[in-house]
Amino acid sequence: MFYRFTIKLIANLAITEDLKAAFKYVISVRTLCELTAKTGSLDQRFTPSPTAIEGMLGHYAVTSRREHYYQTEITLTGEHQNIFVRGRADGYDPELNQLEEIKTYKGLLDRMPDNHRQLHWAQAKVYAWLMCVERELVSIKVALVYYNVTSKDETLLTEEYSAKDLQTFFETLCTKLLVWAEQALAHRTNRNSELSKLIFPHPEFRVGQRKLAESVYKAAMQQRSLLVQATTGIGKTLGTVFPLLKAMPEAKLDKVFFLTAKSSGRELGLNAIRTIHKNNPDLQIRTLELTSREKSCEHPDKSCHGESCPLAKGFYDRVPDARIDALNQKMMDKAAIRSVALIHHVCPYYLSQDLANWSDVIVGDYNYYFDLYAMLYAGTVLNEWKVSVLVDEAHNMVERSRKMYSAELSYGAFNEMLVHAPKTLKSVLEKLNSSWATLNRNQEKRYEVYAYIPEEFEQLLQRALSKITDYLAEHPTFNDFKVLNFYFDALQFATLAESFGEHSIFDITKSDVIVGLFQQDSTLCIRNVIPAKFLNTRFKAANSNTLFSATLSPSSFFNDMLGLPDKTQFVDVESPFDPKQLQVQVARHISTRFKERHHSHEPIVHLVAKQFLERPGNYILFVSSFDYLKDVQFLFKDLYPNIPTRSQMRIMSEGDKERFLTEFTLTSQGIVFAVLGGSFGEAIDLAGDRLIGAFIATLGMPQVNEVNEEMRIRMETVFGRGYEYTYLYPGLQKVVQAAGRVIRTTNDTGVIHLMDDRYDQAKIRKLLPKWWSISNYNV
Ligand code: SF4
Repeated sequence: MFYRFTIKLIANLAITEDLKAAFKYVISVRTLCELTAKTGSLDQRFTPSPTAIEGMLGHYAVTSRREHYYQTEITLTGEHQNIFVRGRADGYDPELNQLEEIKTYKGLLDRMPDNHRQLHWAQAKVYAWLMCVERELVSIKVALVYYNVTSKDETLLTEEYSAKDLQTFFETLCTKLLVWAEQALAHRTNRNSELSKLIFPHPEFRVGQRKLAESVYKAAMQQRSLLVQATTGIGKTLGTVFPLLKAMPEAKLDKVFFLTAKSSGRELGLNAIRTIHKNNPDLQIRTLELTSREKSCEHPDKSCHGESCPLAKGFYDRVPDARIDALNQKMMDKAAIRSVALIHHVCPYYLSQDLANWSDVIVGDYNYYFDLYAMLYAGTVLNEWKVSVLVDEAHNMVERSRKMYSAELSYGAFNEMLVHAPKTLKSVLEKLNSSWATLNRNQEKRYEVYAYIPEEFEQLLQRALSKITDYLAEHPTFNDFKVLNFYFDALQFATLAESFGEHSIFDITKSDVIVGLFQQDSTLCIRNVIPAKFLNTRFKAANSNTLFSATLSPSSFFNDMLGLPDKTQFVDVESPFDPKQLQVQVARHISTRFKERHHSHEPIVHLVAKQFLERPGNYILFVSSFDYLKDVQFLFKDLYPNIPTRSQMRIMSEGDKERFLTEFTLTSQGIVFAVLGGSFGEAIDLAGDRLIGAFIATLGMPQVNEVNEEMRIRMETVFGRGYEYTYLYPGLQKVVQAAGRVIRTTNDTGVIHLMDDRYDQAKIRKLLPKWWSISNYNV
């Protein structure tokens, strides 16, 4: 949320690289001010800020009101000792000799915390000094232009400064940063010197791992993107992290981002770096783990400002000392950051955001770089960081990105919130309620897709958001979670409504539940289908991207869905496994098609039992749903009561899942019933006899329903491959992931039974791993 205002793109990266090579610490005006001019308490109350588009339009509205000679977006640079500062000033009026810094906002300007205002003045004054240098001015007027995106009013605050005063101000900020800049430059020199001597932490590369490492290294050197399909067991994490570290000095990389879909992936990334440290004891790299606010907050019952949370109070005054302590540790993982934060009495979550500026490797969830308000992406653009991005288990990117760029509003939740809403908000919320009720009434069918988001509803939603923002600014301790939840959902909805297009669907789903004054409940959804448009800018901002997983076929699907840059290379890494290790059999006598499913229970049960009796051990049977699971397990227990069984539960905590997995031992035996695409279908590692076989009684395809059918139609329109992109490819990716649980090392042996006659079709076989040797099961 720090970076929700418009990000100013700063051009000409080549200059930056030359400066870095000349041992200058390069920093944007904004970051210089954030690191040196912020004092006092952390205060997130004024962050309900305009969306990016509102911000851009606001800037445009202000500058278009100015005279024709008014100058905009002026690139300015300056330096002091080892610090080189650059940025773009919003506007300059040569007649008035006035430099303007434009800030868009929602809510009440009077409620803006002092340290936000101080920061804005600091930015304006730094630009003013750079302007004085460039135009050889002896004095200049400095203006903060606050533009209210709701009322369209401007508030102008002006002050006049001599160039000398501005120079002093600029140099004071730079001096404050100097100690950090110098240590960062020294750290970079040491880091690069040690990295150039980096040795691989194992005696040799595994089969396929060398090819992977070479591809990643070359991609970093040639500033390219890679889609790497590599089976489990070749050491993908080390095979991608190691070459990027090795490439850092020569490719002049500032940072490596290791981004994961799950926390287990984060741990793998951190462990790979720990292994590299162990074998390279002099290595100087700072690794930071980013964790979500929910997981790192020490006061979940409080709000993020000094009047509420003790760790926000005086945060900016104490953060420099906390930063020194944290940076003294090579591995700044969650536990290390928490411990430093508590010693210095600062918030661990916001401390970790500060540390991102000073870290070399950052390990965190996909959303830190890819979502709407991604902090690492904003940092990359603002500071011109040269970054290489690693995306672990990248087959998850399509679904995860769709979620990042989708939004839902529930009429039922809105009505419940209405009861709790403060009186002053009632009128605007009632108007929204009435518009929503009209939408519900006008829709005859339960589910309907619309070509656009109704304008009146969107405007009323914006108005409601603006009023709630004002209210929150006036009532900083207001904490009603129903109102706040609606507010955040509505913000996301309104933001995505601005960029609504072919990549998304807008639909309304009505339910039979009655809410409010005899209205049917409904859900309004902006449903992203093709995240490519949003992700493409993220990929382009990086020096290189490597997306890797065991299941990235066909690559054209991922290229189209994710918007990978042109010339992205697809690398299919050779499997280290011998086909003799894995027996893959197709049970053609079984059909798991919906209509024929009830006939499938018995043959599935007999085949599973036969396999178990032939070679007792640990097996998993994957089916398509919990209902199906229940039926098959019931029959199995009935017919084969002596074979032990366990099953996945609908709801399992992280602890439950861990305990469940520990029961797969080298000596245990039995059949585990699980749902494909669930917690046990990927990212679990059961080597050796902990798992010797899998039965996959489904093609993994998403259910045919109204929403998926709409997605199919959209995919057909855009790519001409509706069925494949909506059902077939996502389904088979889940199958291959689940099957990949069986063979984890070159010593493992096992069996996979693909239980459906469609696995005999050539178009399906084409999507299965090339190294599998597949035969048909003889009944
Ligand atoms: S500890 Fe929690 S409430 Fe306090 S500032 Fe940090 S995230 Fe906010």
